[in-house]
Amino acid sequence: MPQNLLDFDLEGLTAWFTELGEKPFRARQVFHWIHQSGVADFAQMTDIAKGLREKLQQQAKVAAPEVKYAHTSTDGTRKWLFDVGIANGIETVFIPEDDRGTLCISSQVGCALECTFCSTGRQGFNRNLTVAEIIGQLWVAHHGLKGEPNRTTGEISDRPVTNVVMMGMGEPLANLENVVAALGIMLDDHGYGLSRRRVTVSTSGLVPAMDRLAERCPVALAVSLHAPNDALRNQIVPINKKYPLVELMAACRRYLVHAPRDFITFEYVMLAGVNDAPEHARQLIELTRDVPCKFNLIPFNPFPDSGYEKPHAEAMRVFREILQDAGYVVTTRKTRGDDIDAACGQLAGKVADKSGRVMKRMQKETA
Ligand code: SAH
Ligand code: SF4
Repeated sequence: MPQNLLDFDLEGLTAWFTELGEKPFRARQVFHWIHQSGVADFAQMTDIAKGLREKLQQQAKVAAPEVKYAHTSTDGTRKWLFDVGIANGIETVFIPEDDRGTLCISSQVGCALECTFCSTGRQGFNRNLTVAEIIGQLWVAHHGLKGEPNRTTGEISDRPVTNVVMMGMGEPLANLENVVAALGIMLDDHGYGLSRRRVTVSTSGLVPAMDRLAERCPVALAVSLHAPNDALRNQIVPINKKYPLVELMAACRRYLVHAPRDFITFEYVMLAGVNDAPEHARQLIELTRDVPCKFNLIPFNPFPDSGYEKPHAEAMRVFREILQDAGYVVTTRKTRGDDIDAACGQLAGKVADKSGRVMKRMQKETA
């Protein structure tokens, strides 16, 4: 089996080259070709000696997951479905804005955590994505979008993806090793050269893995909070039973020791009549008092049979104002790519569920 070079960060590629009897700078050259030039064909790597190119052709490949389809929304948002093996598909979304282009990347096929308002969680879980499948999403998007004119400015950019958020399908910290390797490639100057603050990992709160991420690669951290007290969070973000809010807040503070001058972004999906009352906003202020943070309020994005409803605009306004009056920076996420189901929490891909959850729900529904 040829070795997929997209599975390696620079350190890994260098080690593999050493095994082949090749010098480290050769690894660096090939890494440039792959990630900076978007070249998958070794024959096109013209400054590499012919002998080595032939060796690579025999023993290696550069293989991103196959694109099943790519759709563009009327607002310019783009969504890809990648084929990642039998009955499994993952989704990636690109959100262009005037001053940046954000790519939303998946980390798992489905998700094993069962947040009740999330369509990915509904679909069960199949497996972790490999490093090649994670970085492959960026590789395809970045090199595919290069050369396309910006929708608003008309300019052609050679760096279309300026920001990455690990907010697609899956819980990135449940796939820590592969995610850390992929983050390394994103940050590497020989790779995509993204700054630490332009790459965000979003977690539902896996406390031990938050500590490990802090030590290994302290990128920007978003924490999916969604509730201001344990009773409510236990219901809608069940991982809270394992890592309750006191522990989560302590982990946030520890994280910031490794990422000085940063802040945590608390994501808060607003669910009508569930967590959107003024009292909840006031509890949030108490809860997060000692954590440098800002809030990102996300109106719930509906999906079939979710059982939840979008918040009223007025409820969102009141909620936001309570936080702002307490001195917090609050952003409200605009819904983008609605017409192609590319909004937050709508990423469904295709999951051949192995957790048994989908089967259980079907049995319940037909009983
Ligand atoms: N598993 C990680 C990252 C993926 S989810 C996490 O939970 O943080 C990315 C964000 O979308 C999370 O904040 C998640 O709670 C939110 N989300 C999930 N379902 C949603 C929905 N139906 N509407 C709006 N946001 C949703
Ligand atoms: Fe998994 Fe995040 Fe969805 Fe929760 S919100 S089920 S952690 S993807």
